[in-house]
Amino acid sequence: MYDHIILRYGEISLKGKNRKGFITSLKKRVKQVLSDYPSIEVHQSFDRMIVKLNGEDPEPILKKLKTIFGIHSLSVAIKTEHDLNLIKEKALQLVKDQMGDASMTFKVTVRRPFKQFPHRSQDMNRDIGGFVLSHTEKLTVDVHHPDMELKVEVKQDGAYLSCNNSEGAGGLPTVQENKVMLMLSGGIDSPVAGYLTMKRGVKLEAVHFHSPPFTSERSRQKVEDLVKVLSRFGGDIRLHIVPFTNTQKAIQKEMPDNYSMTIMRRMMMRITEKLAEKNNALAIATGESLGQVASQTIQSMNTINEVTNYPVLRPLISMDKIEIMRISRAIDLYDISIRPYEDCCTVFLPEAPKTKPKREHANKFEQYLPVEELVEEAVNGVETIIIKEKDDSFGELL
Ligand code: ATP
Ligand code: MG
Repeated sequence: MYDHIILRYGEISLKGKNRKGFITSLKKRVKQVLSDYPSIEVHQSFDRMIVKLNGEDPEPILKKLKTIFGIHSLSVAIKTEHDLNLIKEKALQLVKDQMGDASMTFKVTVRRPFKQFPHRSQDMNRDIGGFVLSHTEKLTVDVHHPDMELKVEVKQDGAYLSCNNSEGAGGLPTVQENKVMLMLSGGIDSPVAGYLTMKRGVKLEAVHFHSPPFTSERSRQKVEDLVKVLSRFGGDIRLHIVPFTNTQKAIQKEMPDNYSMTIMRRMMMRITEKLAEKNNALAIATGESLGQVASQTIQSMNTINEVTNYPVLRPLISMDKIEIMRISRAIDLYDISIRPYEDCCTVFLPEAPKTKPKREHANKFEQYLPVEELVEEAVNGVETIIIKEKDDSFGELL
């Protein structure tokens, strides 16, 4: 019955000069996500995109489209010719399909951008509404809070009928040049930070520090699996695996215990900045939120942040753990994040890390550490893999 899907852009239709670029990016992504369906056509107009199904089942396609940032809402639709009687018939068919055996309230909203169509919107509202009412039993009109809104849009190429929009992923479509390096551990927070960063139209690359043999192959696999989930939203993602064992050993040996975590983070930040520079990323993202653990006090952030002048994005900064976990579950990250394999930070974690580390102390201690050599060695040893977009088992979106 449904032969089209209508995609609405939401906030990107407001973005002035950037609009055109955003729409081009969005269309590209839509086509990429639907590349397994060569018969499907995608057409764009001023404020929406129309996917012509050409016989494909709308359900799996809807699911895929719901992962695309920049789509605000979407609905399956039926297209008819410019003929009021046909429109009424299809409207009835659609309403019946949506309500099944239930009792429902509804209203009709007609838009008529194609002014040559000879019926006025107001008249059509009444006409179509009356027709549908007289052919159904458990339906009543409620223009303020209807259970179902039947939308009819008369465009130049025909009339599109749809009901009940479902929510899209929201946010902004990915712009390939807007690249950000995500510092990705195997924990709960940083993958969620990656998701939220991508949601703002950013292309992500991920950096993971591992310390074999203290961290296992399985903890690395865990990170790859997390990236795989993230790639459902942003397409293929490059993952940089940084060998961090020597740096951690040097820190453990040379640095005072209570500053070792601060200095480890500063080293991670330095290495990530180098990788950002090398790969044309313009900012760094982390999963930090304020006040969760010792490394995430405001004093600690100040001291860690000293070593980079790249913008550090912390999308979780104001969130509490419950909110973060809710997002993590909703997009299928959680079960991977809670796998028990050790992280390089936990292995070397000191017993009593300083909760208020100071810049001047960190700088003083680091004089006894071959900072530049360690950074260079780590950067040179990076292994970069491309995690390909995965296309099965989707989570529900926010
Ligand atoms: P997460 O849940 O993301 O592990 P966390 O609450 O455990 O975060 P920390 O261990 O203090 O917090 O880490 C803070 C941030 O530092 C992480 O969110 C992540 O961005 C970065 N980070 C920590 N460990 C690593 C790692 N092994 N590789 C890359 N980034 C890391
Ligand atoms: Mg962690």
